[in-house]
Amino acid sequence: MSQLHDDFHDLDRLTTDVRQWCLDFIRSADDRPAAMTADITPPALAAPELGEGAEAAVARFIKEVSPHLAAAIGPRYWGFVTGGVTPAALLGDWIAAAVDQNLSTPGDSIASALEVQTIEWLLDLCDLPDSFSGCLTTGATASNLLGILCGRQFAGQRQGVDIAADGLSGVAVEVFSATPHASALKGMAIAGLGRKRLVQVARLADSEAMDVDALRIALESSDCVGKIVLSSAGTVTGTDFDDLEAIADLCEQHGAWLHVDGAFGLFSRLLEDRRGWTRGLERADSITSDAHKWLNTPYDCGIFFCRHMSVLQTCLEVPAPYLAVNSVTPSFMNLGIENSRRFRALPLWISLLAYGKAGIRQIVKDNCSQAERLAQWLEQSPDYELLKPAKLNVVVFRPQGIDDAEVAPFLQRLNATGEVFMTPGQWRGRSAIRAAFSNWRTTRDDVDHVCALLERNAQR
Ligand SMILES: *Cc1c(COP(=O)(O)O)cnc(C)c1O
Repeated sequence: MSQLHDDFHDLDRLTTDVRQWCLDFIRSADDRPAAMTADITPPALAAPELGEGAEAAVARFIKEVSPHLAAAIGPRYWGFVTGGVTPAALLGDWIAAAVDQNLSTPGDSIASALEVQTIEWLLDLCDLPDSFSGCLTTGATASNLLGILCGRQFAGQRQGVDIAADGLSGVAVEVFSATPHASALKGMAIAGLGRKRLVQVARLADSEAMDVDALRIALESSDCVGKIVLSSAGTVTGTDFDDLEAIADLCEQHGAWLHVDGAFGLFSRLLEDRRGWTRGLERADSITSDAHKWLNTPYDCGIFFCRHMSVLQTCLEVPAPYLAVNSVTPSFMNLGIENSRRFRALPLWISLLAYGKAGIRQIVKDNCSQAERLAQWLEQSPDYELLKPAKLNVVVFRPQGIDDAEVAPFLQRLNATGEVFMTPGQWRGRSAIRAAFSNWRTTRDDVDHVCALLERNAQR
């Protein structure tokens, strides 16, 4: 028998062993280094001519690779905006790999219809009207690209050009934004608009939110027919929110496509006291969010909502006779970047079912309280400077009395302890440290643990 068939025959034992290893890894996440801070190269191996079988290959992974993994699923990985994995989402992801459905077209299984239902549940979770529809993406980067492609197509339509068919030649498009996420600039590059097509709109004082008056002036003084406004519902450092109601008014007046990036900020809508921050969101033309951040599904799972699915479909249609299907369920390959698509709806579907809106709301609430707790500690500390009040789940700070250039080495030393992992940022032109809370496993004790670490490492 071949190695493949032997492994298949042994699958019971192999999966039992791997399951046990995964559980050990998951449970020990609190105790292992939050992240690896040195460069590590993979084992010096060439792709073998003859395979060694699954058991030996996994054993090699466990011995030579796994010690160098980050505990990104653990409670003190506070870098970027990194979600953990709920138990139900983990099960869903395992199942998704086991059943390996391809959600390019419907017509062969229930899988595409389940993605449709997941999108409906997400809209309900975020209290958005059913005038939106959408799809799941690889992440907020892909969702931002979809929003930009739609905006570009819409801008072309206003000039009598079908850009998906005829290209950008002769079409004028301007993109207005105050604090676009880096991934949106990448989206502009991919979409052929170019990063420099951005019209930089001023921000409000001490904020990353858009100055609406500045946007009004920019739109009024532009003679470009094609306009896209990239707006933020939760910027990565300041967690600031644009005034979407006022911006939607301006977009309507000027025929601009309004895309809103709410990669994690969207879920502020689950909190009674922060609901108002996204007022007007239902008037956006398209919206970006992420499940692999605050919804704690495994990578990769982004969310894209759109109010004009025909525009999206015009951008991304795959016209091939052998792909035609007869179904009321959409062909997701016509609505996203990939043709072949993973069953990424399943972990999310199972997790939403398992914990409900209340369960998700609790994660968001707890993470905000943790951010608040860290911010309070920093504020009373003589050794640290809280750079802005913690409004949501991100805390921005730096050590007192050190030069800008010393902040990164300080953070490097802190991260090298393995007790916590945070990432750098900039606040009002100054180097900063960002702590972002978006893991269901983080507790108050973790915050206190890191406060003690900060105290011990203070640069007095
Ligand atoms: C994380 C993030 C992105 C990019 O998301 P990915 O899931 O990493 O592709 C875009 N916008 C905002 C506001 C983000 O926080």
